[in-house]
Parts: sequence; structure tokens; C-alpha cells
Amino acid sequence: MTIYVVLGTLLVGFIYFALTATGLGLLLSPAVGFAAYIFFRLVDPEERGRRGYLRVLCASIVGGIAGAGLSAVLGVSQTPTWDWAGVAVVVIFASAMYSLGARGATEPCVLCKSAARTGFHCPRCNDWVCARPSCWNAKYSRCTRCHEREIVIFPIAERWWESRLGRRVMKGECTSCYTEAGETDLRECGQCHWPMCRRCWDYHNGVCKRCEWTIPDLPPVLAPFARKTKAVRAPAPPAQRRPAPAPAPARPREAPRPAAVRPQGSDDATRVVQGPAAPKGR
Ligand SMILES: [Zn+2]
Ligand SMILES: [Zn+2]
Ligand SMILES: [Zn+2]
Ligand SMILES: [Zn+2]
Repeated sequence: MTIYVVLGTLLVGFIYFALTATGLGLLLSPAVGFAAYIFFRLVDPEERGRRGYLRVLCASIVGGIAGAGLSAVLGVSQTPTWDWAGVAVVVIFASAMYSLGARGATEPCVLCKSAARTGFHCPRCNDWVCARPSCWNAKYSRCTRCHEREIVIFPIAERWWESRLGRRVMKGECTSCYTEAGETDLRECGQCHWPMCRRCWDYHNGVCKRCEWTIPDLPPVLAPFARKTKAVRAPAPPAQRRPAPAPAPARPREAPRPAAVRPQGSDDATRVVQGPAAPKGR
């Protein structure tokens, strides 16, 4: 972040130097202050706290003084006295803009404490977190804390699983983590019928890792994230650890249902269409 303070300072310094050299220092100093504010808004849109204020202040003060000083030293300044007054205007404008922007700030992010205008209610802990990658794991739609602690969201009740995915599968291995049926609780995907363990179903927010079918009747908090497309399809692991094709080989692959079509071009892991939750009924 310090690099941005330096860049911002240089930006202010250069602009202000150019202005004083053309005699427009005081006249356009509000614009310079505004530019300093915009610069830091662009660099870190979420920052609305004290730290950000100090950055803006530092860049506008140092940059303004450097710009006016340089042009005074080089003797290119048209109106030296007014230039210094302009520096004050730069600083006042930059800090006023920042304060105004900060006033509209909303709830702070639970994890990094900075005000987060855009963010998410984590479906697992329900805390409000900002959209920064250090706080929100976009790929798996949960806060980084829940991700690290592997917080699960689906109930453990057998009834919940059986009504959605059928009984536990006793052979094969998990499509995702390759754990054998004997060591974990495998459940078949409702569409491609490849098994995945309960832990992995939870990890993928109820979306089949292979065909992206989604478990019907997911907890409502997951609804906004339910039709999540996968990130880049990883190439098959070197050793062919894929399960021997399926505990249910006999079933012909049915034509994919329209609901399963995934939106094109949204391969990055951000939040995706709230689409038709899941194919209910057959
Ligand atoms: Zn945060
Ligand atoms: Zn969470
Ligand atoms: Zn698994
Ligand atoms: Zn599937």
C-alpha cells in the first residue's frame, strides 16, 4: 500500500508542478485535491477508515508542497505566493472529499474491519464480509474464516441427505477427494450419478463437481450462490485416480436438462446467476 502513497504523492506533485508552471496553480488546485481523492478511491475502493484518510492527506500535503517547492526552486512559477495558498486548497479539498465519501460508509467487514459497501453475508456464519479476496472466498462462496475452519452448512440428519440424494453408496470413491466408500459417506449426484462424499458436497455448496447439478432444496441462505459455475476445469490428475466408471454404469446418460445449462463466459469464480435453483422433480 505504501507504493500507492508514493504514487499518489508523485501524481499530485507532478500535476501541481505543471499547474504552477503555467500559472494555474491556485485556480485548479481544487481539481488536484479531487484527483488525489479519486486516485485512492480507485486504488482501494473499500477503504473508508482512518488509514485511508491518512494516505490521502499524506499524498496531498507532500505532493502539493513538492510541486510548489519544485517550481519555486526552478523559478518557473508564475505566482509563487498563490501557489502556496493552492497547496492548502489541495489538502482541504482532498480531505473534504474523503470525509464526505467515508460518511456514506456502511457496516464494516467483520474480518478486516474496514467499511464494506459491497460485500456478502457469509452463508455459513452469516457475518458481513467485504469482497476482498482476503475476506471473501469467491470460489467457494464463503468467508475465508469459514473456509479455513471448514465450517459445514448442510445438516447431518440422514433424512436430509436421503430425501435429496438417496441412500449412502457403498462402493466407488468420491469424485472430488477420492476417498473410498468404506471410509466416507458417499452420495450420488442426481444427474450424472457419480458419487461424492458428504464433506465434498458441502464443500462445493451442493453443486456436483462433475456435471454442476445442484442439490434441490438447498438451505435458503445458499440460494444466491447456488448456481455457481466451477472455476477452470482442472486437468485430470496425473495418476488416473478417477473412480472406475461409476457404481451405476447401466444408466444411460440422459439429455441434460435445460436447468443445468451453465451461463457462458462466467468461468471466473465470482458470484453467478441466481438461476433456477435446481431441477426439481423428474
Ligand atoms: Zn474485509
Ligand atoms: Zn463465514
Ligand atoms: Zn470427497
Ligand atoms: Zn453430477
